Amino acid sequence: MSANRNSEKFRYRFSGVYQPSRTCQDRPRVHIQALPCERKPNIPVTETRRAASLENWREKYQRQSQGRSRANPGSEYPYEYIQTLWHKPKQPNYQTGVNYANFGPQSCCNVQHGSHLPPEYYRRKSTSALLRKRASTAATNNKQAMSDWSHHSQNEWGQQFPISVMGTRQSPIDIRASDATKEERPPFKLELIEGDGSAEWTLTNNGHTFVAAPPQGVKWQLSGGVLEGTYVLGSFHSHWGHAKGYGCEHLLDGQKFDGETHFVFQLTPDIPTVEDKFVAYGIMMQESGQTNPKAQQFIETLGGNLDKIIESGSSTKIPGLDLTPIAEANKGKEYFAYKGSLTTPPFAEAVLHVVFTEPLEVASSVFGSLRNLTDSEGKKCTINYRAIQPLLGRKIHHCVA
Ligand SMILES: [Zn+2]
Repeated sequence: MSANRNSEKFRYRFSGVYQPSRTCQDRPRVHIQALPCERKPNIPVTETRRAASLENWREKYQRQSQGRSRANPGSEYPYEYIQTLWHKPKQPNYQTGVNYANFGPQSCCNVQHGSHLPPEYYRRKSTSALLRKRASTAATNNKQAMSDWSHHSQNEWGQQFPISVMGTRQSPIDIRASDATKEERPPFKLELIEGDGSAEWTLTNNGHTFVAAPPQGVKWQLSGGVLEGTYVLGSFHSHWGHAKGYGCEHLLDGQKFDGETHFVFQLTPDIPTVEDKFVAYGIMMQESGQTNPKAQQFIETLGGNLDKIIESGSSTKIPGLDLTPIAEANKGKEYFAYKGSLTTPPFAEAVLHVVFTEPLEVASSVFGSLRNLTDSEGKKCTINYRAIQPLLGRKIHHCVA
């Protein structure tokens, strides 16, 4: 009797299929699927048995979901419960039948996402291409896998980085003012606390974007606002698209911008109780005839050196950048803040995102230089932003800097 039960238990493997709702702000719906288990290849899987077993599991989840729907309205199964299932057997195993191919943005190519990313970036690869990719991914080690990713195949990120589809605080999101809570906070303070402000910075093409980093010993510190500690600038980078109208990561009430720059600060000194180890201080960019005069020198220094790092992996030295005008330009401006993640691998959920609502005008020529950078395959970086992720009930702060 019990032996029978056990063999029944191992006969099928269950897989969640991620299907975000139309708006991607609600909890994703999860459907349970039975797949034949490879551990018992000799047991014939008949359609009747498969369907019966699937039905048993459905009933079980529905029982579990009773009385637990408060945080998960409208969903068939309790999200938290499904998540525990996901976390158990889902160390990525590219050789198994676990159907990761259904995870990711291409499975939610609906009105909002379709407009956020050009549709061609959601095109599903053929099954054989997916299998080839899986085999090659399995053969690489973790370090190689970290560099072997592209914004062009976001639908495959879940295979390499399960947190990107299983996480609970992924970024970016569509920030809706109606979901946010207005709060009074002290202004942000962005200041040079250590080192020579004129010392040369390093500008690098990392195959996905440019990265501008101050030299060691030059510490730009961010504090105040919604922050629980003090953060020191590590570097900054931008996201952009193939044409005007595409490029930002976050949306503001569905509105898109032409790009988004992230100044990434790290909690320094570390405070163990603070879970947001990084702050992404985000500024939207708007492609226009001229750069905002307040940020002109900053952007011209940057933009004027981009043609020296066209090739992936190349880097150059640039004059020290002064962040004061950027901070000044944001004084008294509205921003949103929420608990999110890195928007690129490894998608660590340790980033507090600050998103200013007013875009900064940046000259078209600078956008031209950005789009001229090439990736590790020698192709132009014409898209390097991630599709929006579900909010999952997170709190959004709405403040003035
Ligand atoms: Zn970024």
